[in-house]
Amino acid sequence: MADSLTISGYEAVIGLEVHAQLSTESKIFCGCRVEFGAPPNSLTCPVCLGLPGALPALNKKTVEYALRMILAIDGTVRLRSVFARKNYFYPDLPKGYQISQFDLPIGEGGEIAIPIPGEKRKKVIRLRRIHLEEDAGKSLHPESGEKFTRVDFNRCGVPLIEIVTEPDICSPQEAYAYLIKLKQILQFLGICTADMEKGHLRCDANISIRPIGLSKMGAKTEIKNLNSFKAVEKALAFEIEHQVQVLQSGGIIKQCTMLWDDKHQVAEPMRSKEESHDYRYFPEPDLVNLVVTEEWLNQVKATLPELPEIRAARFVRQYNIPEYDANVLTESRELADYYEKVMQNFGDGKAASNWIMTQLLKVINEEKAELENYHISPVMIAELLNFVQSGKISGKIAKDVFEEMVATSKTAGEIISSRGLTQISDDSLIREVIAKVLAENENNLKKYLSGKKQIFGHFVGQIMKETGGKANPGLVNKILQEKLDELAR
Ligand code: ADP
Ligand code: MG
Ligand code: ZN
Repeated sequence: MADSLTISGYEAVIGLEVHAQLSTESKIFCGCRVEFGAPPNSLTCPVCLGLPGALPALNKKTVEYALRMILAIDGTVRLRSVFARKNYFYPDLPKGYQISQFDLPIGEGGEIAIPIPGEKRKKVIRLRRIHLEEDAGKSLHPESGEKFTRVDFNRCGVPLIEIVTEPDICSPQEAYAYLIKLKQILQFLGICTADMEKGHLRCDANISIRPIGLSKMGAKTEIKNLNSFKAVEKALAFEIEHQVQVLQSGGIIKQCTMLWDDKHQVAEPMRSKEESHDYRYFPEPDLVNLVVTEEWLNQVKATLPELPEIRAARFVRQYNIPEYDANVLTESRELADYYEKVMQNFGDGKAASNWIMTQLLKVINEEKAELENYHISPVMIAELLNFVQSGKISGKIAKDVFEEMVATSKTAGEIISSRGLTQISDDSLIREVIAKVLAENENNLKKYLSGKKQIFGHFVGQIMKETGGKANPGLVNKILQEKLDELAR
């Protein structure tokens, strides 16, 4: 895909609207539990079903979570914000309106910085607003043989924040990087699991193009039904090319809402764009204004969870690891937590980061497993690393042990004792093996002594083979060198 900045003299202008499901235990205006995958319509009550006479009561935790996000991205908290009814008819919306925020949202401004590939500098994406709202239900469209669409109201009233950017994003790749960063922030704040597959994060992408150099923005289209970050990237690339083609063939871009078809990798127009007056917004009469006191705000500030950059900087200081490692380890909160749990039982920060970044993440990726609750716990990794550090097993044997841990869920200690893998650190035993190997390799020994120093590695290999890989490699190198120096004299 071409870089959008260079496509035929046009540049892309992109703004994203992301809905993030807040991970509170209960819904935003009633006490119903929030749970993914519960039996349809089992988590409902008169309030979230919109039955006549039922009144909403705001869940305080949802406000606290929204405040965390606004503070984390340096936005401005509106101390008195207003809920509004957004009216529209749809089968999954039993009240006939959604309680949202309109002209007076709880958060405004702020920014998220995204990495620029190959540069140390970051690009700032300004945010326009963050508001609180409730989710709608879910229509289950007929599968083959069924006649009717069914509807599940469990999701009605599930708390969301909507995070809207300014049109500062210039390419599909930047949109992708923004989403990755946003997900990371949400997870570190502990306010959203940001699992796109479960619909905990939903993104609508607005896109227009304009001739390079022009500051006026062109007409935009909005793409919906994007169910992965990659889909966002692909849909934007598709729509940029589409808009360029339209303009180049003398057409005009009509504002509209499009649906991304991931299977066929195309975006199709769905409807002409709705305007805000279509929703007949008005202040929600059943709720008072949402007032955030300075005291409350300060309390949220004081207990704000550690954000990724700050945690990475602390890792560098506290565990004495390179910045690169710290950045990798803080890519997700689970990974950062995992590393810190290993470090509660092990002393060498760099040895632990090496092991996690190479061995552990490799199997996690291969198995497509989740780190949280993975069957090899941080304590088990710490035990394994301690065996290496104390010289009980070599780094090479540790890899075999780890492989068996992955396959059997046994601990390193169990595997080492049942397979007799303890490293040989006995000088005299190693001397014996060295003598044997040198005796069996007379020709090579002559070559070595006449100057072919690279044969050293070959001897080491033979010795390790002879001991089933159990000889302490440090000792082997040291004693072998001594022995050869002796023979050379
Ligand atoms: P709407 O009223 O259609 O929802 P908004 O002005 O509220 O439009 O903006 C929605 C999103 O679209 C924001 O993220 C904004 O940055 C982005 N946006 C607005 N205008 C454009 C444009 N011309 N091209 C691309 N994105 C835009
Ligand atoms: Mg919009
Ligand atoms: Zn309810």
